[in-house]
Amino acid sequence: MNWLDKVIQAYERGEIPKGGIHHIEVAHDDGCSLLAGTGPCDCEAEVSLDIKEDT
Ligand SMILES: [Zn+2]
Repeated sequence: MNWLDKVIQAYERGEIPKGGIHHIEVAHDDGCSLLAGTGPCDCEAEVSLDIKEDT
């Protein structure tokens, strides 16, 4: 599963409020094709969402 799928799943689970996401941080594994510049992401990237709350 790539990181974008994780973001979409979080959204579908209702984990992302209406305020939306302020920032998405994606930590790719060493050896990821994206980091190597040889292709799209093919690693199990760690995704952290910085949720923007409407307060
Ligand atoms: Zn990657």
